[in-house]
Amino acid sequence: MSRVLIIGCGGVASVAISKCCQVPDIFQEICIASRTKSKCDALAERLAPHTATKITTAQVDADDKDQLIQLIQGYNPDLVMNIALPYQDLTIMDACLACKVNYMDTANYEPENTDDPEWRAIYEKRCKEAGFSAYFDYSWQWAYQERFREAGLIALLGCGFDPGVTQSYVAYAKKHEFDTIDTIDILDCNGGDHGYPFATNFNPEINLREVSAPGSYWENGKWIEIPAMSIKREYDFDQVGKKDMYLLHHEEIESIARNLPEVKRIRFFMTFGQSYLTHMKCLENVGMLSTTPIMFDGKEIVPIQFLKALLPDPASLGPRTKGKTNIGCIFTGKKDGKDKTFYIYNVCDHESCYNEVQSQAISYTTGVPAMCGALMVLTGKWAITGVHTVEEFDPDPFLDALDKYGLPRSINNTPALVD
Ligand code: NDP
Repeated sequence: MSRVLIIGCGGVASVAISKCCQVPDIFQEICIASRTKSKCDALAERLAPHTATKITTAQVDADDKDQLIQLIQGYNPDLVMNIALPYQDLTIMDACLACKVNYMDTANYEPENTDDPEWRAIYEKRCKEAGFSAYFDYSWQWAYQERFREAGLIALLGCGFDPGVTQSYVAYAKKHEFDTIDTIDILDCNGGDHGYPFATNFNPEINLREVSAPGSYWENGKWIEIPAMSIKREYDFDQVGKKDMYLLHHEEIESIARNLPEVKRIRFFMTFGQSYLTHMKCLENVGMLSTTPIMFDGKEIVPIQFLKALLPDPASLGPRTKGKTNIGCIFTGKKDGKDKTFYIYNVCDHESCYNEVQSQAISYTTGVPAMCGALMVLTGKWAITGVHTVEEFDPDPFLDALDKYGLPRSINNTPALVD
């Protein structure tokens, strides 16, 4: 019996909210609060006739800590689910601390303005010291560790699929399958086709920043950085088939490397079609992926935000997308003195997702783990206070919940390995 404040009402949040409404005995009351209240109202109206969860809505600018504090104090939730954008992570964490409420999100902090000199100085120091140059990293949120712990609160970071479920797969492999894990390859395959020459499956700004950045992986205790899209492999995915995939930097590598220091190599691969890559390169070459504001017709615009306005809304891809996603982790290591391989993954069908919650599988595979993570916190199954990522918690109740609520695991003990 809980009351939850959900911030954001975009593609991922809509799925998480729909799934919360399927578990009304836990999510008794939810408040959907976002920048554009009309979207919250429309979703509440669609869901209300089919759920016992009591839904209210509110308008909030989540960049404004004082507005957030006012909203949280007025609603008095047990948990705040941040499913807005990574830009808002720190203001929402600050507000949760001020109001003594548990916090969770689906992506780690990155600043909206990467030209801010104060942020840039810290970023450039981190690039040199850590050895990777992605705009996002965990240091900003790990810095809240003591404050959350002292307040007796949980901050659950990155509880989508990747990050999120992939880390629970790591915890599962460590708990049940291996004495020592040597390598982890996280494979994210989207075999879906939406029929557009170019569109992103979640927030375009966040997505394009991520995939146009240099790739990197963790090996023997340090980061190895490579030019964007310069390591390519082909993999034959269960229920999808052969796809090209590229090595990317990804946030969960950082926390897994910290929490499982014995692992020798951790890599992340994502599939991309040629059309996507050609469009992205062209847009990058002409400056459309830039986050630096320019003056246009007397108005300041940010090129990547203008591009976002031109691209199809990811939420609109649902009815058009056919095919499946396949996301999981391949492990190598030792059990009882013998070499062992293990592959755990989920296959998700875009059309089934749309039929269930009117959304494509990318939002579905992120929104369902967000709901299941909230379920873990609200039911006390995950109760370590402080700031934590998913691999730090018991994987069993979480993976059971995912099996039950739409993202069942598959297992292969003899997978093909990625060279
Ligand atoms: P969308 O752009 O579809 O939705 C973002 C939502 O946040 C919108 O409702 C938007 O409001 C709202 N919002 C943005 N800024 C503010 C603000 N200042 N105050 C209040 N509300 C705000 O994004 P997605 O749903 O695609 O992504 C949501 C999150 O999920 C992102 O953090 C993304 O990185 C993460 N993600 C995580 C994945 C994982 O596997 N872990 C995979 C995919 C995404 P408005 O409608 O007004 O624009």
